[in-house]
Amino acid sequence: MTYAGVELGGTKCVAILAPGPGEVLARETVPTTSPEETLGAIANILSRWQFQALGIASFGPVDLDPQSATYGHITSTPKPGWAGTDVLGPLRHAAGVPAAFDTDVNGAALAEMRWGSGRGFQDFAYVTVGTGVGVGLIANGLPMRGFAHCEMGHIRVARLQGDKFAGSCPFHGDCVEGLAAGPSLIARVGTEHVAGLAGDDPLWKSVAWALAQLCHTIVCAAAPRAIAVGGGVLDNQPHLLRRIETMLVESLNGYMTLPAGAPYLRAPALGRDAGPLGAIALAMTVRP
Ligand code: ADP
Ligand code: ZN
Repeated sequence: MTYAGVELGGTKCVAILAPGPGEVLARETVPTTSPEETLGAIANILSRWQFQALGIASFGPVDLDPQSATYGHITSTPKPGWAGTDVLGPLRHAAGVPAAFDTDVNGAALAEMRWGSGRGFQDFAYVTVGTGVGVGLIANGLPMRGFAHCEMGHIRVARLQGDKFAGSCPFHGDCVEGLAAGPSLIARVGTEHVAGLAGDDPLWKSVAWALAQLCHTIVCAAAPRAIAVGGGVLDNQPHLLRRIETMLVESLNGYMTLPAGAPYLRAPALGRDAGPLGAIALAMTVRP
């Protein structure tokens, strides 16, 4: 079997053609501009490739209810022009094969479980801290969902004592995304100073605290076997991973004990490929 995977991101989209992670036959990148232009370019790529199933891992929020009239559409994104866009329809049409559709982070979580830092687990979470905070939460081998997919990056958390930063989420202010994602760093220190932030800057205590609170909630809600934490902020500040785990253990305060043997929080083993390989992992869930 050969699969096509499309990861739709806020700035770029990646399409790959692969039978699995070790053998990527083709890879093309398309900038995310208008829906017409971007989806048109991806549809063009897909119509040139030969494959048996398609996986689409999209930024969101997206409608994942197959019974809904807007299944496969992006719902309420603040990204200009994309709210209400049908993503699945035109790509499935161009591909002409069965397609699976899910969030970018659920796809990445499934890819990490198949090939990366969550290998062998049925219960796992993938957290990315970049332009936003996204969480892919897998329970019993399946992405958690109800009337919508979960949006744990937007939970409200107990604030670090003394931290008065208002937060940068346009919807909630100081939700986790508003306290820890890239735009919150920009709001705190200004665009030009983010890249120069030292590892011992006091701001990281607040960021690590918010992410530890997120992990506390994930542990209490679903008790995954491990949590992968990646994205642009963690990539550039790798010291955060251990700081978050230390704060998580303190926050749980002995009420729940994390599985022993390996670090509970880990970097995604697939690195920057977790997104596109997530789309391949989704394609593999399609039963032709
Ligand atoms: P996306 O979520 O769009 O895929 P990334 O995961 O690539 O984005 O993360 C991009 C974010 O990484 C930006 O919002 C930026 O603020 C942040 N970032 C870039 N450089 C640094 C740095 N040196 N330290 C901390 N964060 C950084
Ligand atoms: Zn929010």
